[in-house]
Amino acid sequence: ALAALQQINEFLSALSTAFPVSPQDCIICMDQLSNPSGYETPSTEEGGQNILPDTVGKFIKCGHTLHMLCMLAMYNNGTKDGSLQCPSCKTIYGEKTGTQPKGKMEIYSIAQSLPGHPDCGTIQIIYSIPPGIQGPEHPNPGQPYTCRGFPRFCFLPDNDKGRKVLELLKVAWMRRLIFTVGTSSTTGEPDTVVWNGIHHKTEMMSNLSGHGYPDPNYLDNVLSELASQGVTEDCLKP
Ligand code: NAD
Ligand code: ZN
Ligand code: ZN
Repeated sequence: ALAALQQINEFLSALSTAFPVSPQDCIICMDQLSNPSGYETPSTEEGGQNILPDTVGKFIKCGHTLHMLCMLAMYNNGTKDGSLQCPSCKTIYGEKTGTQPKGKMEIYSIAQSLPGHPDCGTIQIIYSIPPGIQGPEHPNPGQPYTCRGFPRFCFLPDNDKGRKVLELLKVAWMRRLIFTVGTSSTTGEPDTVVWNGIHHKTEMMSNLSGHGYPDPNYLDNVLSELASQGVTEDCLKP
């Protein structure tokens, strides 16, 4: 509704409402900004008031440009969760949140070292999610979802980098980004709680699944997966 337009305006600066304004193209429809958007001005309920077909905008951080009507169409097509990602360079605006169901994240300390990290102990994370009913944000609202393999036990080295990853995983958990409801690529089961692209190590002393130690690149890999969801060290600053 009106909120959609307000949200978009937080992340974009309007360039002009009169064309021709710029030799650049719209990163959504790929047409020149000097041509009007092909999207129609939506009804007031969809937040379309006050946007003319020739209104163009510019993302405040990355500077990519687009038609405001193209932007509104993209936003209304998405999760409408108050965040936006530049379709061109993937810069995230606002706080991206996911659809992880209700559950519990617990953290414990283990004295034993992980393979490949002999000089420190281990952080254990336990995720518990009980079965429930899917909400409007899930693939089949009103239908139940299952939870296989919970509680899930995960391991990090208890060193500086591992503790930083832990803090970022807590942020990702609060933003509902660690799990989602969907079809498991391992089992093919639909309507079940699955990992959501932020890899975890679920084996401590073995590596039968490929999700164990040693893995010298793991912490860097998970940091970049977190960053692609908008969870970075900046989130830890007060
Ligand atoms: P999925 O199969 O849809 O895969 C999603 C992502 O999770 C992929 O990136 C994949 O690489 C990763 N992944 C797959 N297996 C993993 C594992 N064992 N540990 C860590 N990451 C893994 O995801 P899913 O359905 O949520 O989980 C995959 C399978 O792992 C399921 O069958 C689940 O039951 C099982 N699992 C079991 C336990 C257990 O303690 N029994 C714990 C964790 C996962
Ligand atoms: Zn456009
Ligand atoms: Zn961009």
